[in-house]
Amino acid sequence: MQLACLDLEGVLIPEIWIGVAERTGIDDLRATTRDIPDYDVLMRQRLRILDENGIGIDQFQEVIGAMGPLEGAKDFLEWLKERFQVIILSDTFYEFAAPLMRQLDHPTLFCHKLSIEDSGRIADYHLRQPDQKRKSVQAFHQLNFQVIAAGDSYNDTTMLSEADRGILYRPPQNVIDEFPQFPVTTNYEELKSAFLEAQAAIAG
Ligand SMILES: [Mg+2]
Repeated sequence: MQLACLDLEGVLIPEIWIGVAERTGIDDLRATTRDIPDYDVLMRQRLRILDENGIGIDQFQEVIGAMGPLEGAKDFLEWLKERFQVIILSDTFYEFAAPLMRQLDHPTLFCHKLSIEDSGRIADYHLRQPDQKRKSVQAFHQLNFQVIAAGDSYNDTTMLSEADRGILYRPPQNVIDEFPQFPVTTNYEELKSAFLEAQAAIAG
């Protein structure tokens, strides 16, 4: 039995923090782990900026809902679900992803969680588990599943390495250079072909 594990941001939906920065005009929200490598420091800064601008979960979800999935993402996901059990492994938060999951017909999503006060203020965040993408693939192997995984970025590479086959989707050049072992795909048709090739390679 084969599972397909997909990253979310950059594969099926736009980058959430960048989209929120664009739509709110708050440039400081553009910072990523490339600018601030310590994720905790980065998230504390993001939550502080939201506080300073009076942005609670409702406004945040409104902005995210308006972003919509990437063009063709829903059809691609439908195609994939007809051929594999599909699980999305993401480092986002359920509360952020919710409006986009609705637009993708609620696929299975493993990610992290926020603490939200009654007022809607986002008070804190909780990682369900560090390095959860890799650990999920390890757990699926324990359950006797083979795994084909696809992602776009640095935080996917432990998942791709752990999987039976890993595929890069529209990655930045530094990830292509550093991980030449993974095939690179640049649109959903190529990604479909890469999944079928991986499937045949594992089965054979
Ligand atoms: Mg991504």
